[in-house]
Amino acid sequence: MIIAVAQDAPASTSAAILQAAMAHGLTARCLTGDHGGDVIGIGGSLPAEDLALPGVLDVKPAHKSYMLASLECRSASTVMVGDVQIGNGAPVVIAGPCSVESREAQIEAAVAVQRAGATILRGGAFKPRTSPYSFQGLGEAGLEALAAARDVTGMPFVTEVMEPEMVDLVADYADMLQIGSRNMANFPLLKRVGKAGKPVMLKRGFSATIEEFLMSAEYIMAHGNSQVVLCERGIRTFDTTFRFNLDLNAVPGIKELSHLPIVVDPSHGTGRRSLVKRMSMAGIAAGADGLFLEAHPDPDKALSDGYQTITPAELRQIVQATAALSETLFGIDDDAAIEDIALETAALVAVSA
Ligand code: PEP
Ligand code: MN
Repeated sequence: MIIAVAQDAPASTSAAILQAAMAHGLTARCLTGDHGGDVIGIGGSLPAEDLALPGVLDVKPAHKSYMLASLECRSASTVMVGDVQIGNGAPVVIAGPCSVESREAQIEAAVAVQRAGATILRGGAFKPRTSPYSFQGLGEAGLEALAAARDVTGMPFVTEVMEPEMVDLVADYADMLQIGSRNMANFPLLKRVGKAGKPVMLKRGFSATIEEFLMSAEYIMAHGNSQVVLCERGIRTFDTTFRFNLDLNAVPGIKELSHLPIVVDPSHGTGRRSLVKRMSMAGIAAGADGLFLEAHPDPDKALSDGYQTITPAELRQIVQATAALSETLFGIDDDAAIEDIALETAALVAVSA
């Protein structure tokens, strides 16, 4: 069930609801609703007498199993990564190499992507590779390299965590924790990042439905962390032409279901460098809150995923093109524009009368 509490309700109201839920053995989590007051999602039902409290505005059943992630709790959310806000209408570009290769290489890449217009740095220190014989990442030395790149550029960074036992270590360094596609349904890991106190970027499993994707976000939220950004990174279909197929239905489709920001990863979503710019534009046109891109000063020499990695020059083009596209498509205040048209029409009618 979902309970809305007035902004000026005494703090004891939300506390009493959370306590009552605990007494009934139910999970309960509190978000800030659109009205500025608390919205409490409870994984079950409380008796009416537990809710007869000052400031309780509304009590309704949850229609979605991903209750906290759903539009029933909020209409939109923003997530702060360091000093960068995701979900405020301006597309955010997250970029960097697939893998952290060395301290020097990560700093060089960070400076290059920042000059190209990215505001959040990426790089894998722990890599989920299909082959056990491929480069597996630098581990903690990779986290140190990312932190050094942050010191030089001031850019916050996101990096993948693959195991529950490693969450504390990665969270000590990173500004945002990445849950990779292969781990989207690793429930112990989702529960653990729910308690990590850092924003999370959750990548869609490449054979996961949108409902399963949102349920994984719900796991993180139900364990205490509402700072979740979704990432559409391509799914498997019958077609083997591309490494994956970027599912752009997911972007506006998820916006009709969830308040969580969503970014698009055209690097993994196509597996082909030549397609990344167009699919970045398509992702922004579809309403994505940002892009997650593999970029490297010399992609052909990258230690992983070079074939889908763009150069800093290509990144700069994408940043400029998508910023312009977003402004053209979404920069207009629809309500104000409709009002202007109504006023102009009324003026024309008055003149012609
Ligand atoms: C990545 O972004 O580094 C990555 C491994 O992506 P995915 O989990 O989507 O395959
Ligand atoms: Mn990669």
